[in-house]
Amino acid sequence: MSGRMREVELATNLARVEERIARACDAAGRKRTEVTLVVVTKTYPAEDVRLLAGLGVRHVAENRDQEAAAKAAACADLPLNWHFVGQLQTNKVRSVVAYADCVHSVDRPKLVSALSSAVVSAGRAPLKCLIQVALEKESGHGGDRGGVAPEGVRELADAVTAAEGLRLAGLMTVAPLTGAYAGSPGLAFARLMEISRSLRGVHPAANMVSAGMSADLEEAIAAGATHVRVGSAVLGVRPALG
Ligand SMILES: *Cc1c(COP(=O)(O)O)cnc(C)c1O
Repeated sequence: MSGRMREVELATNLARVEERIARACDAAGRKRTEVTLVVVTKTYPAEDVRLLAGLGVRHVAENRDQEAAAKAAACADLPLNWHFVGQLQTNKVRSVVAYADCVHSVDRPKLVSALSSAVVSAGRAPLKCLIQVALEKESGHGGDRGGVAPEGVRELADAVTAAEGLRLAGLMTVAPLTGAYAGSPGLAFARLMEISRSLRGVHPAANMVSAGMSADLEEAIAAGATHVRVGSAVLGVRPALG
């Protein structure tokens, strides 16, 4: 596909997503400016990121460091904020803090200290951190996806607050595929908001709520999400290994 055709395709998809967000805000009695669209560009090339920036996108997200680092380098001249939303190994942290403005997937104390040291040694601006909440892990249930159980949020949040170079920005979740909230993203996001409210009682500045993807952004906006992470609805359906 030519660059021009791809640009038209992305513009069309983006307009559809923008329309969905606007309607959802309307329905919820929220201002459009209360919700930030973060476009998840994983598996798609840097050329697409460049086209999206030209179409006005300012926030992009990736879930694998190797891919993200290369794309961020190729797009360093663009006015973009990079969000890291994938499970993060401590040996990738140094690379991630070189390009990420915000990490959505903070889920364990070891990662907090690794991020803190990396930010300090890079001498960069504070890194925004969201605690990833795994609602399917509530009250001792399993699951090997990323995220901390709701009962672990407070302790991890305190650790981020105490860590040099990190700023506790809020919470993130992915609607669970298992457990009590499977198939009910609206209930999952409402639960996340409840956890967010209680967190803000202690850490008032931690007001970001990252929830909602292509399939459930309306439910997330209805619940109160401030950031929706949308991939396939903008870029197209990813090949299986996304
Ligand atoms: C891939 C991904 C998204 C976007 O998912 P879509 O269904 O393509 O919109 C959002 N959040 C995270 C953490 C992801 O890995």
